[in-house]
Amino acid sequence: MNIRFEKAAALKLKPDVSKVKFGSVYSDYMFMMDWTVDGGWQDPRIVPFEDLSLSPAALVFHYALEVFEGLKAYRTPEGKIQMFRVDENGKRMANSAERMSLPRLPEEMFVEAVEALVSVERDWVPDQPGTSLYVRPVLMAVNPDLALHGPAHCLFFIICSPVGSYYAGGLQCNAIRVEEQDVRAVRGGTGFAKCGGNYACAQRAANQAVADGYGDVLWLDGVERRFVEEVGGMNIMFKKGNTVMTPQIATGSVLPGITRKSIIELLKEQGYTVEEKKIDIDEVAKDLEDGKIEEIWGCGTAAVISPVGKLCIHGKDYVINNFETGPLARKLYDTLTGIQWGTVEDTHGWIFPIQ
Ligand SMILES: *Cc1c(COP(=O)(O)O)cnc(C)c1O
Repeated sequence: MNIRFEKAAALKLKPDVSKVKFGSVYSDYMFMMDWTVDGGWQDPRIVPFEDLSLSPAALVFHYALEVFEGLKAYRTPEGKIQMFRVDENGKRMANSAERMSLPRLPEEMFVEAVEALVSVERDWVPDQPGTSLYVRPVLMAVNPDLALHGPAHCLFFIICSPVGSYYAGGLQCNAIRVEEQDVRAVRGGTGFAKCGGNYACAQRAANQAVADGYGDVLWLDGVERRFVEEVGGMNIMFKKGNTVMTPQIATGSVLPGITRKSIIELLKEQGYTVEEKKIDIDEVAKDLEDGKIEEIWGCGTAAVISPVGKLCIHGKDYVINNFETGPLARKLYDTLTGIQWGTVEDTHGWIFPIQ
């Protein structure tokens, strides 16, 4: 791509990232590119971060034709900047786009755009332990079209936000609750796509769970309301002896997390049996009752690992591992964050150095 660069008149003061709330501060520049039916992808550019000017009739506002991604840029102890499996985010965004009838952005263009913007914004990647620069690519249809003929003009843009350490005080357990009323996704729906609509319909249950003292909801399948799917914005795993179980993604109703995929690879290398399958919530309850499930954790880019210390199933609270982080969750967290921040050797080719 021939990326045009428009210089900002002045640069912002960089905040103390330990005091910044997630998503409240954005960097100096954003990447932008248009797509039109007739002209395809065009005018890639890095421009000062600014408000968008869109028609109130733009498709995205009415019919939610939108998909996004979330990834991070890390600073190594030597001061180098690196990212994690950017190609996987590119593939996933293309698949999400396809589901929502949006144009597929080629994976190579996605990677090039992310790398170019992070390279320009390298000074925004914080250096305190556990901190990073969060990168949010978005693709949306913006042509004014209440009749919904489909995307004729799309915008692909990327913005960056410095984030503090998720666990300033060390890995912390979360309490989650099985959602009994709402559903998030069904087979044939959009569960596997990273789209805003999945979050919109999940919001009510998440708010209620928080109001009732839980950190997040555990979603069950949308038809039988019996099989475990995922937690809010994270996938979920259960450790039972030498086996780790996680819901299969073949149903199309679970988001195929890159953290999930990476952990499965690490676990297999370490000799664990990984079962990707349908997980019956009543069997989980029984296993918890019998003390057979030793650890549960959520996994995703934001927290990497979020140990579950309490799980509420059909109104009954089960405490897991005395509400303490289990040894396997900790080990996975240390390995994955070590690779991401450059203190553990990357033997998988997962790291994308930023020049
Ligand atoms: C992004 C996301 C995940 C985690 O995916 P990662 O690639 O590991 O960050 C899990 N569930 C949902 C609903 C998500 O949006």
